[in-house]
Amino acid sequence: MQAKVYRSTGSWYVAKTAAGEIFQARMKGVFKKDDSITSTNPVAVGDIVEIEPEEGDACNAMITEIGARRNYIVRSSPHGKNKKHIVAANLDQAILVCTVKDPRTSQGFIDRFLVTAAAYHIPVILVFNKKDIYKAKEMEKYEAIEELYTSIGYTVLLISATTGDGVDEVKALLKDKTTLMSGHSGVGKSSLINDLLPGLDLRTTAVSGWSGKGLHTTTFAEMYDLPEGGCLIDTPGVREFGIVDIPKTELSHYFLDMQPYITECQFNNCMHINEPGCAVKAAVEAGEIDVDRYVSYATILETIQEEQY
Ligand code: GDP
Ligand code: ZN
Repeated sequence: MQAKVYRSTGSWYVAKTAAGEIFQARMKGVFKKDDSITSTNPVAVGDIVEIEPEEGDACNAMITEIGARRNYIVRSSPHGKNKKHIVAANLDQAILVCTVKDPRTSQGFIDRFLVTAAAYHIPVILVFNKKDIYKAKEMEKYEAIEELYTSIGYTVLLISATTGDGVDEVKALLKDKTTLMSGHSGVGKSSLINDLLPGLDLRTTAVSGWSGKGLHTTTFAEMYDLPEGGCLIDTPGVREFGIVDIPKTELSHYFLDMQPYITECQFNNCMHINEPGCAVKAAVEAGEIDVDRYVSYATILETIQEEQY
């Protein structure tokens, strides 16, 4: 029987069939993992698995097979720097919840998220929350950000989870898609999720009978069905994704605004820092690439260097 994984603790999984039947599943034996990655968790939220119902106290199914992943997103494993933890699989898109104020989301943080998503070929929607508290100064900042990221090709929305302003637009973008939602603490991600999931379907049904207590405080991702169709994956406590996976020479490929210039550089292994004949730097100087984006690029590049040596 085929089922989709909605929740994972590392050893237990909640999986749901297309008919809506929910199973608490465990894994059977050793699995053939995805050869391209060494991860600490063989099964992730969003995975399509084959399950066999079984008798058991805590558990009523066994996972016997994991379907091939369309894509996935990783973070460094809490069990070791060189190990990867798959946060979620089979995503259509990701939402990063941001704010201009209380607390301000830095452009560096946004750009790190965008790079990671681009590396996994996952489109991103930037949702700016707390519109209700933006005054003229904050609106001006927001508008500049919106213009910048829209020009790069990202969708940018301004909403208020408190008043509900703009939430319908978010709903429309989520319909029939699997969306990962992320954001640093305090931006209103939980408030937005409550707007999107008034009944908190899975949280109140499957999880109330869950054997482990207090699991909500852990950092495992969890998927919810949206009332209008589609799935939402919450990533509590996950602040950074697997940017360490990206080689230095490839980083600029994931800055979508730099991409068109890369092939024009004099050296094909140009990292766009000190090299002569760099088309990316020329574009920054000409105002064709935003200076702050270039600063983000240079900053991320440095962290990759530090992590490699
Ligand atoms: P999370 O840490 O991202 O999950 O954020 P929460 O949803 O817990 O919200 C953090 C704080 O921001 C809470 O005090 C919320 O009431 C507040 N908040 C969330 N959304 C909005 C909003 O749209 N406007 C205003 N003014 N406050 C908000
Ligand atoms: Zn260059």
